[in-house]
Amino acid sequence: MNTASDKQTGIFPSVCSLDCPDQCALLIHKEAGRIVKIEGDPAHPVTQGAICNKVRNMTKRIYDPNRLRYPLKRIGKKGENLFERISWEEAIDTITLNWKQLIAEYGPDRILPYSFYGNMGRIGTEGMDRRFFNRLGASRLLYTICEAAGTEGYRFTMGGSFGTDPEDTIHAKLIIMWGINAVSTNMHQVVLAEKARKNGAKIVVIDVHKNQTGRWADWFIPILPGTDTALALGMMHILFAENRVDEAFLQQYTVGYEELRQHVRQYDPRTVSGITGVPVDDIYRLARMYGEASPSFIRIGNGPQHHDNGGMCVRTIACLPALTGQWLKKGGGAIKGNGAYLEHDASALQRPDLRITSTRFINMNLLGSALLELEPPVRSLYVYNSNPAVVAPHANKVRLGLAREDLFTVVHDLFLTETAKYADIILPATSSLENTDFYRSYWHHYVQIQQPVIEPYEESKSNVDVFRLLAQAMGFEEQVFQDTEEEMIRQALNNPSNPYLDGITYEALLEKQFVKAKVKPLFPGKLRTPSGKIELYSKAMESEGYPPLPTYTPLSEDEDLPFLFIPAPNHNFLNSTFAHNEKHVRMEKAPKLHMNAADASSLGVTNGDYVRVWNQRGECELLVSAGEDVLPGVVVSQGLWADTSGNKSLVNALTPDRVADMGGGATFFSGRVQVEKIDSRRVNEKKR
Ligand code: SF4
Repeated sequence: MNTASDKQTGIFPSVCSLDCPDQCALLIHKEAGRIVKIEGDPAHPVTQGAICNKVRNMTKRIYDPNRLRYPLKRIGKKGENLFERISWEEAIDTITLNWKQLIAEYGPDRILPYSFYGNMGRIGTEGMDRRFFNRLGASRLLYTICEAAGTEGYRFTMGGSFGTDPEDTIHAKLIIMWGINAVSTNMHQVVLAEKARKNGAKIVVIDVHKNQTGRWADWFIPILPGTDTALALGMMHILFAENRVDEAFLQQYTVGYEELRQHVRQYDPRTVSGITGVPVDDIYRLARMYGEASPSFIRIGNGPQHHDNGGMCVRTIACLPALTGQWLKKGGGAIKGNGAYLEHDASALQRPDLRITSTRFINMNLLGSALLELEPPVRSLYVYNSNPAVVAPHANKVRLGLAREDLFTVVHDLFLTETAKYADIILPATSSLENTDFYRSYWHHYVQIQQPVIEPYEESKSNVDVFRLLAQAMGFEEQVFQDTEEEMIRQALNNPSNPYLDGITYEALLEKQFVKAKVKPLFPGKLRTPSGKIELYSKAMESEGYPPLPTYTPLSEDEDLPFLFIPAPNHNFLNSTFAHNEKHVRMEKAPKLHMNAADASSLGVTNGDYVRVWNQRGECELLVSAGEDVLPGVVVSQGLWADTSGNKSLVNALTPDRVADMGGGATFFSGRVQVEKIDSRRVNEKKR
């Protein structure tokens, strides 16, 4: 393997590290040791050289003068943003001395690691860090903030995150994008759908907001938030009633289809229309379209699962392809996530055997409660690959917790994020282009490798290097803390229990840069469900206290306020990543609130007015965009904005920290708010 210093000038292969299903292959152009351009690698069979704006402009982020250059220690109050430079030696000594005292006095479970997939490199996110915290005996984080509810729901139906090969979706004749703004968050699925469209496919988008993806559709179906389960059940009602189901497939590859046939009789189109806001005629049209088109493909997005009823919702939508036998058609079926095809050996990477004491689990969606209410209390927080002060639900509660003077907080990041402002010690992180790691998409079927393209920026270090230093300072002598990145990648990929990974080796990745898993169609075949079949009726769910058949449950009670609030992603940020980068902020212009024109009129607001959006959890001030892009009673914001302008744009101040029906998932989209007009001049003055 060449080092970054060998790569002064030329074009070098790379991979996008962001938490995005597309996981594009990249080419990094360097001159005199510096990156001058980032483009897509046309050789990658799925991403084919096309990349999004976020990463095309990534060079600015890599060399952003605001990047952290050296470790810092706090010299002011928590959140006051006063720090001074220290050496790495002092930083590591301070952290480990504090932890040794904490462990001696209270035990290791008072230390909580908090991370997510700000960088999707597996050894950086699930490698040396997990080894370290396992050996330390720290509290264990449940990684639930993104896809937990839907993954669990899909697993009950399909036995794991196994879906359609996206490359095959060019053969589909009907593509339903369900609760996904794919133009902004899965752009290559859009490219593949366009190919299908040229061959006659129709594209239907079902969403609560007519965003870029809704505008691109042949038919956009607006739906009330949290009611997608009912729409899917209404489709099933019509498919069974009009004999549009594939009886042979149901008999051979599913369990519970007779029970389902009876069960969905209650979900007649009139009832479903009353729940979903979708007109009766449209429910018939959609179901008939789905019953006739073949192959038909459903891309299940992250939206529907971020509700109180999100797990059941995904479980229900996942039943649809079975009804019409789509899994036997090339390009038919569904994708919620495809991560199970590329499962590496997580135990070899994370080494749970290093943990000698049992410990508690803490759901990351409940970080605010964990910091403020948990007994025995968390006394130290180590944050990396995430920015919980912005991305976690009920953000004001999280910030109150972070502000505890007795909480010893370490943040390892590229920038002085909102979370870092509450830290006692801040450590500068390398970008993915400075690291060695391997990447596996959760949508397409390719594993890729990243070799360092540039030297670490100033004094920054990778997660792997920092945890090695921490392990050494804690006196951990196990060999696993000496493993090189290459050794860790080899350990992870050596996973005979996953035949799809066969042939994906370190050498193959070095030679080819990206290697496809040995996928084959799911059927004929056996799923990893208890029955080996698609479980339309799930005894496993029944034994865990869920309805065994797909069932619509309304959202939980929130505050008695008139609007359901959906804080969706925008086009130019990825969660809070890029929210600090001037160019991306300029492209997004301002944090907006999309609302129905009738609601705007009844509140006396028009486009360009500022409104106060509030509930008991917090408040925001957003710019009104009124029209017909959302149904009455629904308001949508886009993007997780940084608190840099002095404006109140922290949308997670409004989101609930209840957990979803399955997997401890997040319920970002199940909160209610009030909206009222405010004096726009006041907001503009504040901005100045
Ligand atoms: S964010 Fe997604 S679309 Fe953009 S370059 Fe990365 S993987 Fe590709």
